[in-house]
Amino acid sequence: MLKGLNRKRFEEQLLREVARVTKPYGGFALESRQSVVLVSPEEGADVEGAFRACTRVFGVMSLTRARAVPKDMAAILPAAAEYLREPLTRARSFKAEARRSDKSFPLTSPEIAQQVGGGLHDLFPHLTVDVRHPEVEVMIEIRDRAAYIHGAPQPGAGGLPQGSGGKALLLLSGGIDSPVAGYMIAKRGVRPLPVHFYSYPYTSPEALDKVKTLARLLSEWTGPAALRLVPFTAVQEAIRRQCPEDYFTLIMRRFMMDIAGRLAERAKATALITGESLGQVASQTLEALGVTEKATPLPVLRPLIGLDKEEIVTIARRIGTFDTSILPYEDCCTVFTPRHPKTQPRLEAVLEAEKNLDREALIQQTMAGVEVLR
Ligand code: ATP
Ligand code: MG
Repeated sequence: MLKGLNRKRFEEQLLREVARVTKPYGGFALESRQSVVLVSPEEGADVEGAFRACTRVFGVMSLTRARAVPKDMAAILPAAAEYLREPLTRARSFKAEARRSDKSFPLTSPEIAQQVGGGLHDLFPHLTVDVRHPEVEVMIEIRDRAAYIHGAPQPGAGGLPQGSGGKALLLLSGGIDSPVAGYMIAKRGVRPLPVHFYSYPYTSPEALDKVKTLARLLSEWTGPAALRLVPFTAVQEAIRRQCPEDYFTLIMRRFMMDIAGRLAERAKATALITGESLGQVASQTLEALGVTEKATPLPVLRPLIGLDKEEIVTIARRIGTFDTSILPYEDCCTVFTPRHPKTQPRLEAVLEAEKNLDREALIQQTMAGVEVLR
């Protein structure tokens, strides 16, 4: 779907991603032609596993398993009948279609379709031909090296290949929203690098395990990414000691943004991602978001900003993070929550509320304790 000169770069990135996800399932020969990636298994490879892995590769619009046969009508018809025997036996209607990128093949696409369709009709006489809504589609593609037989493709993960758009730091809590936010930005080709703030002993080791699990689940879409763990207790305690209660959450979130921004620069990432959604909680009003993002020079991406909780939950279920997200552990955001949080803060008032803190010293001390988990 891409135009212009960048297309080749995106296709190369896509090929690298397909190579990465199929590697654990055995040997595969890969080639990329005219926006199609052909993945051919070598002896002993786990085709089923590799196919499943490819359904999670961003940049793939659709995918299908196919049988490769010699480019010869005498081979194509019997192979189609055998390869698609099961669906053809169960279905009531079908159609055959052909595409020919090898123009030296002696038959045109309509001729190939007609011959295969006729032949299959003879072999499966219970079928009717339905060109509009067939239950089974038989597709024949004549390409450079072989003819390929397959059924209707299934939808792929869509989007753009991982890494083609750079990197961003994902503020990953243990909640429902932030893994979904990471998924959505990853889908646009930007690799999310997760960072989590924890406040031991106010938050438990179980809460941390949950975040590790979420990071791993997300990596099934994004590829391996190290999880940055930020010890946040000292910052939170300092805020509690030295700032007015109504501003606790806002000031804490500004520290998160600031520290995440600095970690981003270290990792050559150029934006932050959060799971914020407009109006969901006190710290997600327009005014609060405005005050929070001023703590970092980097752009803050909030892909869920206009979604309802229900819409977010639907995506969380589909990508496989929901069941982990709802495990009942506390987040550092819920430690020291003010009874009356400011919902329409002004920046000057927040800066005033922060003025007794030694921000820079707290940040340096916190950054020194960051751990990175592969
Ligand atoms: P989520 O469902 O993602 O936890 P939420 O609805 O609970 O979000 P908040 O707790 O206000 O909302 O958090 C807003 C965003 O701030 C989160 O989506 C996440 O991006 C970031 N965030 C919150 N807590 C943490 C944390 N402990 N570590 C890293 N990021 C966090
Ligand atoms: Mg949360």
